[in-house]
Amino acid sequence: MSKEHNITLIPGDGIGPEVTTSARSVIEAAGVKVKWDVVEAGAKVMDEYKTPLPDYVLESIKKNKIALKGPVTTPIGSGFRSVNVALRQTFNLYANVRPIKTYEGIPTRYDNVDLIIVRENTEDLYAGVEHKIGDYAAESIKIITKEASTRIAKFAFDMAEKQNRKKVTAVHKANIMKYSDGLFLNCAREVAAAHEDIPFEDMIVDAMSMKLVQTPEKYDVLVMPNLYGDILSDMAAGLVGGLGVAPGANIGDDIAVFESIHGSAPDIAGKNIANPTAAILSGVMMLRFIGEMEAADKIDNAIKAVLKEGKVVTVDLGGKASTDEFTEEVVKKIG
Ligand code: ATP
Repeated sequence: MSKEHNITLIPGDGIGPEVTTSARSVIEAAGVKVKWDVVEAGAKVMDEYKTPLPDYVLESIKKNKIALKGPVTTPIGSGFRSVNVALRQTFNLYANVRPIKTYEGIPTRYDNVDLIIVRENTEDLYAGVEHKIGDYAAESIKIITKEASTRIAKFAFDMAEKQNRKKVTAVHKANIMKYSDGLFLNCAREVAAAHEDIPFEDMIVDAMSMKLVQTPEKYDVLVMPNLYGDILSDMAAGLVGGLGVAPGANIGDDIAVFESIHGSAPDIAGKNIANPTAAILSGVMMLRFIGEMEAADKIDNAIKAVLKEGKVVTVDLGGKASTDEFTEEVVKKIG
């Protein structure tokens, strides 16, 4: 009998409530006992709390240490640059982990993609140091520190070791940004030197983009500064079927928030057509993180089976199933 877990659930905006409801039902169907603390954030709480990120959200996460989160949009004029960035910075969730994996049955051009993007999550151009210079110029400052670069490189190598991955590639643009990306690269090299068991290489971000499109199967763990991670993870999601199937996690020293790569997708919100796979797989990552390995495997296998059969899949994957129908099919396969 597994123990009960206290987990914060943030349904979020747009398709968030639909896909997190799906993830929640699947996790419960796999027999995991969870006491969900459901807390609302984003556009829907703005009127009442004058902030998209009320204190009760932060308190719930601080208390439970684990959260499953839907996409949260940052309302214009809220005084926030981004709720997501604020959450990552408040809890120092320095590692953004985004596995990109081929699932049989999903129509794509590639067969054997299995890579993990490890994105530094706290600095770079996301540090929010930006200003206007009069009306005709502006500056955004790219901050790269030795501490954060070494920490993310260590995270990538530790993960590679634990998960028996083949190689770590550091992605950068150190030929142009010699100081900032140069520092990131040096830190990655130093950490690599202490992990001789894992092959290491580095690649300039533009070349990396081309190689990922040509031969994604040759890459394994990719570690990079914040902005490149944002861009390459959407691109890499496209290699395996799109944003509907790409999960993610934001991990810090004692708190972790699990969320899909995709945003709130307002174009399809409330229509019961969003693909909940990314949210469910984020839930699978969460279950592995909290030690619920058996339930995680059950769900992963059920997703694999449903996608492989291809009969009950959502519109983004060429099917006709609704979010609910897909969820029911996954639950059925869990048995
Ligand atoms: P953000 O800036 O908040 O990350 P975005 O501009 O990248 O958001 P998304 O909200 O992620 O945009 O959506 C991009 C496109 O992908 C949309 O057209 C949306 O319909 C599609 N999409 C995103 N998530 C899903 C999903 N789970 N199922 C189906 N389609 C999706």
